[in-house]
Amino acid sequence: MPTINPGFSTLAVHAGAQPDPTTGARATPIYQTTSFVFNDADHAAALFGLQQFGNIYTRIMNPTQAVLEERVAALEGGTAALAVASGHAAQMLTFHTIMRPGDNFVAARQLYGGSINQFGNAFKSFDWQVRWADTSDPVSFESQIDGRTRAIFIESLANPGGTFVDIAAIAEIAQRRGIPLIVDNTMASPYLVRPLEHGADIVIHSLTKFLGGHGNSMGGVIVDGGTFDWSKSGNYPMLSEPRPEYAGVVLHQTFGNFAFAIAARVLGLRDLGPAISPFNAFMILTGIETLPLRMQRHCDNALAAAGWLKKHPKIGWVSYAGLDDDPNHALQQRYSPKGAGAVFTFGVKGGYEAGKALVEGLQLFSHLANIGDTRSLVIHPASTTHRQLTKEQQIAAGAGPDVVRLSIGIEDPADIIADLDQALSKI
Ligand SMILES: *Cc1c(COP(=O)(O)O)cnc(C)c1O
Repeated sequence: MPTINPGFSTLAVHAGAQPDPTTGARATPIYQTTSFVFNDADHAAALFGLQQFGNIYTRIMNPTQAVLEERVAALEGGTAALAVASGHAAQMLTFHTIMRPGDNFVAARQLYGGSINQFGNAFKSFDWQVRWADTSDPVSFESQIDGRTRAIFIESLANPGGTFVDIAAIAEIAQRRGIPLIVDNTMASPYLVRPLEHGADIVIHSLTKFLGGHGNSMGGVIVDGGTFDWSKSGNYPMLSEPRPEYAGVVLHQTFGNFAFAIAARVLGLRDLGPAISPFNAFMILTGIETLPLRMQRHCDNALAAAGWLKKHPKIGWVSYAGLDDDPNHALQQRYSPKGAGAVFTFGVKGGYEAGKALVEGLQLFSHLANIGDTRSLVIHPASTTHRQLTKEQQIAAGAGPDVVRLSIGIEDPADIIADLDQALSKI
């Protein structure tokens, strides 16, 4: 990319990619191969010993994945990234890199339902404890921190409530207490919010959502901000102590400001195995090229739909930070002035039954468990994505019994509103 200081849209199309050196192919090829031939025995040994970077085996790295990694790192302003099989795999490898049995981390209650399950259930078998805090009250994060706390985890824009979080206030606490802030930026995407600019240390994504953007491929990514000192406290031994399997290499010493991404790859991904397929990496890479165009359209359509719903006599309430009178509007203006995202929730008068009737009456909207598709989507979180939570957890996560969640697509806004109108007229 010859441009000096390229802008976001230029990076979305070009970062990490160049014409294929052997064929001239302009689109990034799908390197659909498990393994790569070594030049000679010394080359093989250098790759395995981490003395030289290069492709060995697609579970660890692959050229198609590498372009995806470099592109997302560029869009988020990080030093390096690691692409993996799903958003959940990104979370698992992130915590695997920093947690030892008996350690804990503080997470926002306002999270994607699957993340609440992963942290509260699956992580228990590793003896990684989660402590919950409220994004509306940053102090609640600090009061949970003790000598075994290794990180704070939040979503920049919380799923499903669609609320923006004061990232800088929580980053200040993390920094003062010497622990990294991990931000799930799935719902906002780097087009709207770049958490590293507000003090986050690690950014993760479900690539399955807005970055891929077309509802066709699973993926996840970990972005290393390069900002955290992994050696200072001695609490992150994977990064700060010699690794016996790599001849005593100390990853933070050797790899500096991209050591976290290296550790997640050569200790986490290598041993736990949730690699992304080259085909999915290609699909997501193609999706990212139009991220700025899609994301703006998602935001504009969502604002139009939310404003229309708010005035409808059958609607009890609408929660969308883009609306002028929304309690979250000031935070949205500060963190995400280009728009408030695609996803929002509302309540139909008549509670659960009316909400269910609305979901069933919609025709353009697809009733399914996903967000960030080109298509408009609808779901009732309490009976689906947030079903395994207690009622209190559901309400805290913005997924109470009357809540309907929309993920507004990039269709014509008039058609989206017409579909809502016809479905509401049948209730
Ligand atoms: C979907 C989602 C995840 C999990 O990602 P998968 O790719 O489904 O594993 C994590 N966080 C948020 C905010 C999500 O929307």
